[in-house]
Amino acid sequence: MVLPKPTSEYKMPDNSIPKEAAYQIIHDELLLDFRPKLNLASFVTTLMEPESDKLIMESINKNYVDMDEYPVTTELHNRCVNMIAHLFNAPLGDSEDAIGVGTVGSSEAIMLAGLAFKRKWQNKRKAQGKPYANPNIVTGANVQVCWEKFARYFEVELKEVKVREGYYVMDPVKAVEMVDENTICVAAILGSTYNGEFEDVKLLNDLLLEKNNQTGWDTPIHVDAASGGFIAPFIYPELEWDFRLPLVRSINVSGHKYGLVYAGIGWVIWRTKQDLPEELVFRIKYLGAEQSTFTLNFSKGSSQIIAQYYNLIRLGQEGYRNIMENCHENAMVLKEGLERTGRFNILSKDHGVPVVAFSLKKKNGGHDEFEVSEMLRRFGWIVPAYPMPADAEHITVLRVVIRAEFSRTLAERLVQDITNVLHDLDKLPPKLVTGEEEKQENGGGVLVKRKSDMETQREITTYWRNYVVAQKAIKRQKVAAS
Ligand SMILES: *Cc1c(COP(=O)(O)O)cnc(C)c1O
Repeated sequence: MVLPKPTSEYKMPDNSIPKEAAYQIIHDELLLDFRPKLNLASFVTTLMEPESDKLIMESINKNYVDMDEYPVTTELHNRCVNMIAHLFNAPLGDSEDAIGVGTVGSSEAIMLAGLAFKRKWQNKRKAQGKPYANPNIVTGANVQVCWEKFARYFEVELKEVKVREGYYVMDPVKAVEMVDENTICVAAILGSTYNGEFEDVKLLNDLLLEKNNQTGWDTPIHVDAASGGFIAPFIYPELEWDFRLPLVRSINVSGHKYGLVYAGIGWVIWRTKQDLPEELVFRIKYLGAEQSTFTLNFSKGSSQIIAQYYNLIRLGQEGYRNIMENCHENAMVLKEGLERTGRFNILSKDHGVPVVAFSLKKKNGGHDEFEVSEMLRRFGWIVPAYPMPADAEHITVLRVVIRAEFSRTLAERLVQDITNVLHDLDKLPPKLVTGEEEKQENGGGVLVKRKSDMETQREITTYWRNYVVAQKAIKRQKVAAS
């Protein structure tokens, strides 16, 4: 009998194994992942209804790009685009088709929106006989990493408005000051990743209109509504952040965040046909009928699109409103619970994406937010700690994203566990680690600041590298000896 060899991490096995065995091996290994529902770091949906799970499985074998073969799927996609465009108040007639597309997420949506702005700006500059080699984009320093990716991949300079202590989003006044003739757009965020705060798109629009009038430019606005796009229309309907503002030319939203679909779906909507340069849209003929596409990838699954459509018609405006109100209430339960401990500053706003961002008022004995985060893992909670963006890097926050599946019971339980962690931290001795520059006086003794996370990380990496090199050397010796 041939005994199965243990699975190598590097090479595909030579032989097959029974399907039941393969399933069990992978299933067991995956048990060591954390539980998605307790992952409070993520905005992305981890629970849908069984009926939508069923639809997802029924469509898992359909490639979305085969539009001629799966015309109904294409039709459902287009209905999603129309419904979302109406939600964002696109200037459309009742039965007019909106301009937009489903993507893998907001990142792809933002690449497409950014490309459209870059091309429009270039075309205009060319027509004016002006240089068009140095486009830039103005954002807050609090932008999500995908904007930095867009800037680097597509060679656009990223001009970031710095944030400051007490104000953690893009200041519209400073953003407009930064705009010049090479600015392809200003990107505002509806729901900052750091603290959920909505940027003031209305003020940005008004200031930019004024500047455009003075200069003769027509710098547009993009709204990154990755997290807020499915919240504001339902619980803050009067807030003007969308196509009601004339300079807002495109908006992205993540279907897999508050659109309540599993990971793998985003949307980008343009205000009008004129805002998407025709030459970026491809007309392809080889799969049957002619299709027009504007995406970065060709093939992709249909399931997420169908799941989005399911949510839109199953929940309707009423359902989304109830869920978002509920998320907001749970955020308030958590916020008030944290305030009651008297130990935290709250850095999120009551009005915004249901996120609670908080930092320690006083770091007793040098114990900081990173330790709170680490100790919460013992209870199964994933609550990330991270520094604020420039120029507020000296402030560290803990952030909890309240998703639809996070119940009030869990919110109360989390407050309890955070309180327990604070008690445990208070009982720990003060941090005493070597490190020269940042000494703090503490009574008679000298308290030395703990190693930075970067230093710790570097140490661990070095340790592992040495360990792996040593293991390889031992293996080589053994092979040479045999
Ligand atoms: C999550 C997020 C993104 C990236 O979205 P994906 O859908 O994960 O690609 C971009 N911007 C903001 C503000 C976000 O919250």
